[in-house]
Formats: sequence, C-alpha cells, structure tokens
Amino acid sequence: AGFRLPDIFLPLGIRRLGMRGGAGLLLCQSARDPVGVRRDKAVDHRLRRPARRAHDHAPAAHLERQRAPAGANEFIRLHGLPPLCATAYTIRGAVASLAAAARCAMMGASILRGDCMFRIGCHISSAGGYLAMAKRAEALGANTFAFFTRNPRGGSAKPIEEADIAAFHAECARAGIDRLVSHAPYTLNPCAAKPQVAEFARMAFSDDLQRMERTPGQFYNFHPGSHVGQGIDVGIEKIAALLNVVLFPGMTTTVLLETMAGKGSEVGGRFEQLRAIIDRVQLQEHVGVCLDTCHVWDAGYDIAGDLDGVLAEFDRVIGLERLHAVHLNNSLNPCGSHKDRHTKLRDGCIPPEALVRVTQHPALAALPFILETPNDDAGYAQEIAWLHAAQK
Ligand code: FE
Ligand code: FE
Ligand code: ZN
Repeated sequence: AGFRLPDIFLPLGIRRLGMRGGAGLLLCQSARDPVGVRRDKAVDHRLRRPARRAHDHAPAAHLERQRAPAGANEFIRLHGLPPLCATAYTIRGAVASLAAAARCAMMGASILRGDCMFRIGCHISSAGGYLAMAKRAEALGANTFAFFTRNPRGGSAKPIEEADIAAFHAECARAGIDRLVSHAPYTLNPCAAKPQVAEFARMAFSDDLQRMERTPGQFYNFHPGSHVGQGIDVGIEKIAALLNVVLFPGMTTTVLLETMAGKGSEVGGRFEQLRAIIDRVQLQEHVGVCLDTCHVWDAGYDIAGDLDGVLAEFDRVIGLERLHAVHLNNSLNPCGSHKDRHTKLRDGCIPPEALVRVTQHPALAALPFILETPNDDAGYAQEIAWLHAAQK
C-alpha cells in the first residue's frame, strides 16, 4: 500500500508517508510548517483502520484532534488535486505540511493510479480575445496557457467583452483548461526609480488585477523588476510597497513573483530576495512564485545536476507551498551566467532530459508548465507533443 518516500521529502521535514490509493488516504508527518488539515466525519471513518496499519505510533485519537485549516480546500482546488488526495493528517501532534503532503499525494496518485494530470502550455497571443486564446491553446495540444494582459512592450489593454469571456469560460470547461498564467507587461517595473514608470506600474498592475477577476482564481505572473541602481534593498522595499497598494482583500487571483536570472540590476535572482519581498506584504495569501527554469539556471541554481537540492533550497527559503507555476525554458548559457537568453527545450545548455525531470518531479508535477521558448506555433506544438511523449 505504501511506497518509498523519495529523498526530496527528507529535507522538507517529512519523515513518513503512507498512501492508499483506493481508500483515498494520505498520512504524512512533518516536523514543521503547521498548516493544519481538513477534517470531517467521512474522512475520519476512512482514516481509522489504515492509519493503525500504516503507522503504529499514530493512534486514531490523535488524528481526530484536528481542525479545518484556512485555505486547505483552496489549496487542493488550486493544485487540481483529485479528491482522493484531499486529505492530510497530523500524526502524534506533528502537523503535516499540506503543500508537501498534497504533492506527495499527487505522486502517490500517479504511481498508484496513473492519473496525475500533466498541464502544459505556452504563450498565446491575446490579440483575438479570450475565446480565441483557448481555441489556439487546444489546437497546439496545450491544456493551460500564458498570455500578456496587455501589449508586452506598451501599455494599453483592450476592454473585455462580455460575450467573449462567457464563451471562453464555456470553452475552458469543455476542454479541461483550468489554469491560466497571465503575464504582466515587460514595461511594468515594480521598483522603478522614475515617477512616471512607477505610476505606470501601479496603474497597469491594479487594472490587470481587476481584469483578472473576470477569470477568477488564476495567476498573474510578474517580474519583480530592476532596481536600476537604487540598490537591491530599495528595490525589495518598492516592490513590496507596490504590492501593498494593488493587492486587495477578497481578490481571487494569486500574483506570482517570477524567479529571475539576476541580469543587470534585476531583483529576484536569489530565492532570498523573493522571500524578503513576500515578508513585507500584508496580504501574503495572494502572493506566490513562478519558477522559470532558464532564469534559475542562469542565476546559478543547478536544476540539471541537483534538482532535489534546488527544490529543497526553495522550500527552505520560500516554501514550496508558494510555488504555483513553472516557466519551462532552456538556456543559451551555462548555469550561473546571469544572461537570461531562452532557447528551445532540446537546444540549450540544460540537458533536455533534465527539463523532463522537472515536469515529473513530485514537488512540481501538479503545477502548470508554460513554454516561453523561441518558437512559432508549430514549434510550440512540437515541444508540447515531445513533453507529452516523455511523460510515458
Ligand atoms: Fe517572465
Ligand atoms: Fe519566464
Ligand atoms: Zn527570461
């Protein structure tokens, strides 16, 4: 019934895990990250007997003493976990990390049942509106996608048409598209020095978040920005200050800080910098991270040689529960080059098989993967097909 706990989970503080696919039972013990878990009668009933079998030190009495956590169901929904994975339990007072546990469950599910959904897509032009984006994504074999909320080099955003957004939602439901990873314009610099540039960032960010509420519960990815000589600390303060202005209570979008290559005066080349930004935000529950494979590689994180180590580092510094999306790109340059030049998946310094391993890693497998490789539509379709084939 159980399976070997992969080494990745040891540095995360998870010591034991039991999984029963048929019964929908997940047991997980973690030394830290008390998130709490959902509990209800039916779950308790399913839990009792297998718990004794899986862990003799996990009496049912302990398991019954839990309360529903804030955000647990939201997490499960956001990560598209199948219902059988929707429970994680404390064992002997140690509280499971729901994020890590749920991802264990994804892996368990994929091992036991082979039903872990692989979400892969690419950047889609928004020029034709929302419905056209969904249809384009489908035509390329994608089941998730990214789009620019407005002209990536300019500032204008087209008004959203009611009929278009309604048709879009219907099409996504039909096609099984449940993740959108929108991208802020490149001209949006959250830590700009010049007042006009800062004002554009505030205006565009705020307006984009209003527009994103038309596609509720999705992701808005942005570059932390370039401090343009003001220094990394000022940059971090300004980015957090902007987030504290534009985030609003009750919003359903999660904004994602993108990991950056550390080119020039870019903020976000180190996980610690993203952590420092998040620490300064008031509405932290609306802030997450998008990991760009080209960027972290260029920043010096060796995802080819030590993916487990990089993810353990990410978890230690930021927390894997904040990771909501992956930009899947190869890099023209070696690890640590701080260049940020994307290349096609099978044509760069990162061995292609290492990128496949990224898509299959239990801590990542449930996330949407977005290609930002230099491709036309035919090239994207080929890379998507290649990745799908590599999953088998
Ligand atoms: Fe980006
Ligand atoms: Fe990216
Ligand atoms: Zn890039």
